Amino acid sequence: MSRIDPEFASEIKKYGAKDFNACFNCGNCTAVCGLTDKSVNYPRIFLRYGMLGLKEEILQSKEIWLCYACGECSETCPRQAGPGDYMAALRRYAIASYEPTGLTKLIFKSKPVFILFTISLSVLLGFFLFTLKPDHEVSRWLFTIIPYAVIHNLGLIIFSITGISVVWGLITMFLKLSKNIVKTDNPKRNTLKSLKEVMNELATMNRYQTCDKEEDSFWKNKPAAVQPWFVHWSIMWGFIGLLLATVLDFMLKDPATDIWWPSRILGTVAGLLLVYGTSLAINYRLKKVTKAYSETRLADWMFLLFLWIAGITGFWLEVSVALNADYLVNHIVLLIHTIISMELVLLFAFSKFAHVVYRPLALFFYFNNGNSN
Ligand code: SF4
Ligand code: SF4
Repeated sequence: MSRIDPEFASEIKKYGAKDFNACFNCGNCTAVCGLTDKSVNYPRIFLRYGMLGLKEEILQSKEIWLCYACGECSETCPRQAGPGDYMAALRRYAIASYEPTGLTKLIFKSKPVFILFTISLSVLLGFFLFTLKPDHEVSRWLFTIIPYAVIHNLGLIIFSITGISVVWGLITMFLKLSKNIVKTDNPKRNTLKSLKEVMNELATMNRYQTCDKEEDSFWKNKPAAVQPWFVHWSIMWGFIGLLLATVLDFMLKDPATDIWWPSRILGTVAGLLLVYGTSLAINYRLKKVTKAYSETRLADWMFLLFLWIAGITGFWLEVSVALNADYLVNHIVLLIHTIISMELVLLFAFSKFAHVVYRPLALFFYFNNGNSN
């Protein structure tokens, strides 16, 4: 057992956990969670870990990533200890602990730092974008104040820090989860089969679907297209599709002005998915349709809004390119679109976005431990 940290209970509250100390260990939350089984037992045990300050047990666990934040456990908790929110706070805590710079800690714990950082990054990215067009009048004015090389190299350094932080975070998590495997897990493993199961889960969200189909779930009789698992699926595949379309455009060095160009079709479909998913997610959070959507932190709002703005501005640009319209407003929209998209990429390692790489790794450990969908 790892060392006890007496400060952990107050620390985790800064990441969004509420009154989790109110838990009296009844086990209702674990009983109601459709994703627990004999080999993965949560959320109750993690509330105990939190109260005892066993932070290494938490950081070495795959379970915090297997939770899909459906909120069912919080609905049924007799003590309003908010086990669902607590699990989300643990994931934020893990993201902040895995990455090496300490930036995520600041961003998650302080709203003013988060706002200041996001705005400063936007301004810096705006400058960086002008350096890509050195003959532009704004660039010429800018370079009289700050030399071209300084802005350009700063941009490259920031992008490199993000990349290194993602890889560092993944390796740290892998090592921590591996420690846990030695102690508790089944030694009979099949890597290829586990990878296939991870891909299957990402493609189908089978486990997430289980939450929405639970007998007492608010979503049980709602159409699949509006259920949270599909909203999450749309956002995830929409973003991946857009990233792929951008890379293809860049590699083929083609402006792809024809809307029937393959990368453009991919971008359109992916953009529709992204805007659809983020619009529903924002709507659910505004209306607080269930407990899971009743508490939204500033970082989560920013994340959703950034994705939504990236999608909407992308469509604006698509229409203006198709119409061959060259207005000042289009240039402004292009600047906003590029800044928001780059900011999303740059904040990848330091925001909720990082779950995109951490959850598949946790799923891999889960499947590789003899579990299956
Ligand atoms: S249902 Fe509430 S009180 Fe019961 S174990 Fe879970 S968090 Fe604790
Ligand atoms: S939020 Fe949902 S998936 Fe997560 S622990 Fe609670 S019931 Fe389980």
